Amino acid sequence: MQSAANAPWTIESAEQTYGIHDWSSDYFDIAESGEVMVKSTINGTLAKISLMDVIKGMAERDLHMPALLRIENILDHRISAINTAFQNAIQGAGYQNSYRGIFPIKVNQQAQVIEEIVQFGERYDHGLEAGSKPELIIALATQKSEHSYIVCNGYKDEEFIDLGLRAIQMGWKCFFVIETPSEVPLIIKRANELSVRPMLGTRIKLSTRVEGHWQNDSGDGSIFGLNSLQLIDVIDQLRSAKMLDCLKMLHFHLGSQIPSIYNIRQGAQEACRYYISMVEEGAAMGYLDLGGGLAVDYEGAQQRTTNSKNYTLDEYCSGIVEAVMQTLDPENVPHPILMSESGRATAAYSSIFLFNILDVAHFDPIASLKEPEPDSDEKLKNLKELLGILNLKNIQECYNDANFYRDEIRQLFQRGQVALRERATAENLYLEVLQKIQQLAPDADTLSEEVQDLTRSLSDTYYGNFSVFQSLPDSWAINQVFPIMPVHRLKERPTREATIADLTCDCDGKLDRFIGGESTLPLHQLIEGEDYYLGAFLVGAYQETLSDLHNLFGDTNVVSIRINEDSSFDFVHEIRGDSIEDVLTYVEYDTRAMKEQFRRTVEGAVRDGKISVQTRQEILKSFSESLTGYTYYETN
Ligand code: PLP
Repeated sequence: MQSAANAPWTIESAEQTYGIHDWSSDYFDIAESGEVMVKSTINGTLAKISLMDVIKGMAERDLHMPALLRIENILDHRISAINTAFQNAIQGAGYQNSYRGIFPIKVNQQAQVIEEIVQFGERYDHGLEAGSKPELIIALATQKSEHSYIVCNGYKDEEFIDLGLRAIQMGWKCFFVIETPSEVPLIIKRANELSVRPMLGTRIKLSTRVEGHWQNDSGDGSIFGLNSLQLIDVIDQLRSAKMLDCLKMLHFHLGSQIPSIYNIRQGAQEACRYYISMVEEGAAMGYLDLGGGLAVDYEGAQQRTTNSKNYTLDEYCSGIVEAVMQTLDPENVPHPILMSESGRATAAYSSIFLFNILDVAHFDPIASLKEPEPDSDEKLKNLKELLGILNLKNIQECYNDANFYRDEIRQLFQRGQVALRERATAENLYLEVLQKIQQLAPDADTLSEEVQDLTRSLSDTYYGNFSVFQSLPDSWAINQVFPIMPVHRLKERPTREATIADLTCDCDGKLDRFIGGESTLPLHQLIEGEDYYLGAFLVGAYQETLSDLHNLFGDTNVVSIRINEDSSFDFVHEIRGDSIEDVLTYVEYDTRAMKEQFRRTVEGAVRDGKISVQTRQEILKSFSESLTGYTYYETN
């Protein structure tokens, strides 16, 4: 993804460097101004807005960095795209039934996201999947159309079952997906007691294994779903209860972020075999729910790798439709309504996490420390000499010597035989040698791995105003790679290679895996007095609710915008991030009691003559103001 160092820097160079056309699915672009633009086609007109204008508008509304930006148009477009792609595949193949999309609430439970999905999705009867009682309550209270489906997965107690049965009583289409045979007696009992014919599905554990991050949790390793023995048990229980006519759906979920279309087709085929068997057993059937798994190409590599995928949305849909037809048609089984629960592919694109850079740690040698003193230790002088003799042919030798002399000086320092300034000069000369090696390296024939890795060890650390654990938890927990790039200054060549550290003072609180397998990201030198903004893209799925309060960095500000046809935009929702008082309350502190305790401590300092009453007042004011402030770094 790097562009040639000597060629003039253009917007195309920026596009290639950050791979924006590869991963953006055409939602983002770079303008001639060097700013990242968000694109949306409204009534046939292409509208574009600059992320820098959004950041400016947020600052004017006192909504500072870091902030999560949601773009409603993109969420709407994703729902349209998935529904339209399935409709096209169905029409193209002559499939004899329809598609119903379902959004799994777990992927982003935020009220504004679910409300937007329900409101926009109504035109497609897009439904919701609930994996718990709170999620079912969200679905029941938010869903507007009784034509949209609610699919209940997960273990269900009596309360959960009753909620779903009540929904059916009101004429809603609410499926219970049976995860284990032990759920069946309770469902039968409550359905009979409430005189409701339930809508039932069975979740099947397929033997198809998928590639990608969840490889080991797929196939026989899957913890969810019924095996064939359990499926028979469920069918027999329903038959004895005269409820086989209620068993209408087969559900499977191979795993999330499936990189290979081959696995998806294989899974659909195997599922259809179960579907046929259930029809043969006398179940009513009529619905096939393919779960999630439709991947997002975070890297834009179009490959069968964990953060990418080797198929388009159209290929996904036609692959499934064809696989189902090929399996069912020879058995003369009518085509079921196809359902899918795409979460990631629906929500990821619509959110961007924006943050500013607070500081940079460089590993550049300092000019004032380049010369050893005449009476300096010989090893220091040897280090200096390396700079004179280093050339293309002796890179490895000079690298080894530099390490040796630097380590010797460190040991002498530990024994008290070398002064701090001499040690600093040694470290500085060492850096100078490494930098020179780095400059020569591209022309060298062979290089050891450690020398090749110098870019990483000499890279800058850019300190970002955010917490990885709060805003990008999957990058820490499962090594998820998100596209990250500056959202402005892209007319300028980025001259630094950097990793990004967050505010948490935790060694895991960093970003050092970037798209294209890179361990550093090209960034611009900071300009004194100017903010530098980066965006982490495609973060709308899973990140918001998996986040945690590490170091008590709380929820960030959240802003939802809607882009208009004339390339203006409206701030449609704003949610202030957590205050310090909020996060303290989450961990059970009583902030009133804390204030009182602190007041007593400060009063004690007055009594002991350490501070004046006026200073006391100032201290108490700062304390109170801090409690209501943002948990992140604030610029006055
Ligand atoms: N459906 C079920 C049952 C799931 O467990 C999940 C998440 O893993 C999904 C749907 C969403 O999957 P994805 O985000 O890959 O679309």
